[in-house]
Amino acid sequence: ADWAAAVAAVRALPPDGRVLLICHVNPDGDALGSMLGFGLGLRRLGVRQMQATFPGPPEVPESFRELPGLDLLVPATEAYADPELVICFDAASESRLGELADRLATAGGALVLDHHASNTRFGRVNLVDRHAAATSVVAEELLARLGVDLDAAIAECLYVALSTDTGSFRFEATTPAVHQLAARLLATGIRPGDISRRIFDTRPFGAVRLFGEVLGRARLEPAAAAGHGLVWTYATQDDLARHDQRPYVLEALIDSVRCTAEADVSCVVKQTATGDWAVSMRSKGAVDVSRVAVALGGGGHRFAAGFTGRGTVDEVVDRIRAELGGALTGPVRR
Ligand code: 5GP
Ligand code: MN
Ligand code: MN
Repeated sequence: ADWAAAVAAVRALPPDGRVLLICHVNPDGDALGSMLGFGLGLRRLGVRQMQATFPGPPEVPESFRELPGLDLLVPATEAYADPELVICFDAASESRLGELADRLATAGGALVLDHHASNTRFGRVNLVDRHAAATSVVAEELLARLGVDLDAAIAECLYVALSTDTGSFRFEATTPAVHQLAARLLATGIRPGDISRRIFDTRPFGAVRLFGEVLGRARLEPAAAAGHGLVWTYATQDDLARHDQRPYVLEALIDSVRCTAEADVSCVVKQTATGDWAVSMRSKGAVDVSRVAVALGGGGHRFAAGFTGRGTVDEVVDRIRAELGGALTGPVRR
């Protein structure tokens, strides 16, 4: 990683240089947490002109509405058109930045912080560590190299990011270094119980009922994925409307589906407002779901990936089935 160039890009900012922070569409805890945590760090360095934003409607999921640094957020429509520096968080490619992708060309400099193996290195300076558990790991290291000490506000953002992408420190990427970072964050006095309840264990009753309905129609296909099993379900805009729920409540659904013992691969196919299907995929290891996702126009990691599909649900799932065989990884390392 090009740490020296990244530090130089930040240090080279003129005193009133405008900085635009961008994260991926439908932001999750890592996207928002690494972006806002880094933004708060830049503010401590004296950066005064700064905005944070993401493509699409400027709606922040309830779970993240108590994040420190939310005052940095502006709607994408109001974001600086030609900032001195643009910094992108947790986005594997320009396509994940939607209508904000043009800023890469109009900004004076473009810095990319990410951890996706499929990252296309679309910045002028790219800090991409595919072994990092979250983008926040990269963000924290850059803050340290810039001489910013952690405070509780920065730490809370980075902790939300780290615990989101490690599934509360349960996934394979949870290395000793991840726990050491978590320890440094907790040492600032943040409260992990409150934070975890907010981001993982809080949802409206309507969403609980919606999950019941959508889980009730899940299908198990033991012969798919060369005998490793596929479990999948789908949710439509009509399902959301009947239960009076916002689309982002469906992000947690994959965590219930992927519990299925008989399936190595799990999918949730979610209808978007435009009628396309946002697909979330998870694997226990026999299949590299990022290969399936990349083949179908998306991206992600070996154990978690996604793409956007067109057509009917059945057509989308057929395309996934067709890619599973080619994405087998061989014996799983445990
Ligand atoms: P999730 O299923 O939680 O939305 O996403 C899982 C992983 O897949 C994340 O690392 C995310 O970056 C990636 N991912 C999800 N949807 C897409 C997509 O449409 N395009 C790309 N390139 N990556 C995606
Ligand atoms: Mn993300
Ligand atoms: Mn991430």
